[in-house]
Amino acid sequence: MTVFNWCHGPKCHTHHTVDRVRGVKGSKVLRTRKVKQNNWNANSFFSHFCSQGCWNDFAYAHWEEFIRLHPRTECLETPIKDPKKETHTHDYSWGRHSYTNTKIEVDESRQS
Ligand SMILES: [Zn+2]
Repeated sequence: MTVFNWCHGPKCHTHHTVDRVRGVKGSKVLRTRKVKQNNWNANSFFSHFCSQGCWNDFAYAHWEEFIRLHPRTECLETPIKDPKKETHTHDYSWGRHSYTNTKIEVDESRQS
């Protein structure tokens, strides 16, 4: 017996693919895909969704509910060291080129 979940994509059964066609002549349907449970999709959303597209459709349909379930009422912060400006200069045959970037490093000593 194969263990499976029905794909939770709200529009899964509307996609026109041959593998979704079920039923007898005269009463054919496009049916939600079964998602077999295996080592590859264990512990990931692919255990309940047949594709990234079905996952996206589900997220777009239910995001308000997710936000009610998992509200962010305060910002989060990652402790960093004081950012350092670094100028890099390179000499080329056609001249000198330099650019500056800002190095941002996580401060592991302040990580909770
Ligand atoms: Zn699907």
